[in-house]
Amino acid sequence: MAATITVMADRLVAAVAAICLASGSDAREADLVARNLVLANLSGHDSHGVGMLPNYIPAVVEGRLEVNRHVRVDGDVGAILNLDGGMGYGQVIGREAMALGIRRAAEIGACVVALRDSHHLGRIGEWGEQCAAAGMISTHYVNVVGRPPMVAPHGGSDARFLTNPYCCAIPATEPCGDPIVLDMATSRIAMGKVRVAMNKGEQVASGTLIDAHGHPTTDPRTAFVPPTGAILPFGEHKGYGLAVIAELLAGAFTGGSTMQPGSWARNTITNNMLSIIIDPARLGGADQWRDEARAFVDFVRASPPAPGSDGVMIPGEPERRTRATRSREGIPIDAATWAEIVAAGELVGVDADRTNATAGAPSQHDSQGGTHA
Ligand code: NAD
Repeated sequence: MAATITVMADRLVAAVAAICLASGSDAREADLVARNLVLANLSGHDSHGVGMLPNYIPAVVEGRLEVNRHVRVDGDVGAILNLDGGMGYGQVIGREAMALGIRRAAEIGACVVALRDSHHLGRIGEWGEQCAAAGMISTHYVNVVGRPPMVAPHGGSDARFLTNPYCCAIPATEPCGDPIVLDMATSRIAMGKVRVAMNKGEQVASGTLIDAHGHPTTDPRTAFVPPTGAILPFGEHKGYGLAVIAELLAGAFTGGSTMQPGSWARNTITNNMLSIIIDPARLGGADQWRDEARAFVDFVRASPPAPGSDGVMIPGEPERRTRATRSREGIPIDAATWAEIVAAGELVGVDADRTNATAGAPSQHDSQGGTHA
């Protein structure tokens, strides 16, 4: 089989949506899941793209992920919405939760959305981008439970939590302009990226991993092969501190759960998220924030490139650049990931030839090398 195939985004959406439909999702849900995953690939975050489907479909089949669930409002008190995701698809639950929060923030100026028990919310930047597109500032704190811990606390020697992402998005300063979106795991590297390095037989950068005895290592197998080590937080005590804050804001205060012995026994991916959505029109800087923000960004961008660097980018820019390239040239998918996606389809009755044909991917018997668009 070819080392990598290249698939155009619209065909990939169609192939993923067909598998979701076959597994019981209605047409809207299948479309939202497929578009969300493909947008993650387009944005360069393959760890949160269509490669997640082989996790999702078995979870649906085994009842760990509920299809066609909608967000449930458990509490509605002024600026605070308490929501339950019912272990539905995060691609639906996240979108509905943000829509409710945006509406409330538009009415009264701000909204805290406390969302518990969603299945995987995917790329958290998508929720920041949804808020920014509606003209809202937002911050999002997320924790992850239901899987064994993989990230060590600063100063510790084994894993105690997962990759707890944080996102903050600022709306564009001009109509049709670009928002600023900081969207990141609090671990030094995303789990999916460690797995990719392991599958390719590559080492990871030093300072990323520790082995089962707490010693530094660059071998990605330590994260998956017993006796397992751990990923380190980014920025030493600072990233660790942010991970703790995300765990508690998202896991404890939403009514969800935090990582503790046994909380991963469900062996699924549960995300809890605390979002704060603010209407900038109600803030003191309403009249001039766009000019102020534009001037600041221009000033920062004007820093001369450091030796060996391509120059300054603004958070969210790497994703937009990759989107432009991959929208034009297609999305590369490694053969192992594509085989898993095809197998996920077969699990719910979509045969391999149909998935390959829908995606415009070469079938196993005609793919002897190279790429395919
Ligand atoms: P990353 O390290 O690739 O990027 C982090 C942020 O830094 C992005 O906002 C990006 O725009 C910005 N950035 C990157 N390079 C830059 C540069 N040179 N100049 C300026 N800004 C730059 O992201 P990550 O930490 O690997 O996270 C990947 C994705 O994984 C995110 O979308 C995150 O939400 C997602 N995630 C989800 C979960 C979950 O449980 N749902 C858990 C962890 C991570």
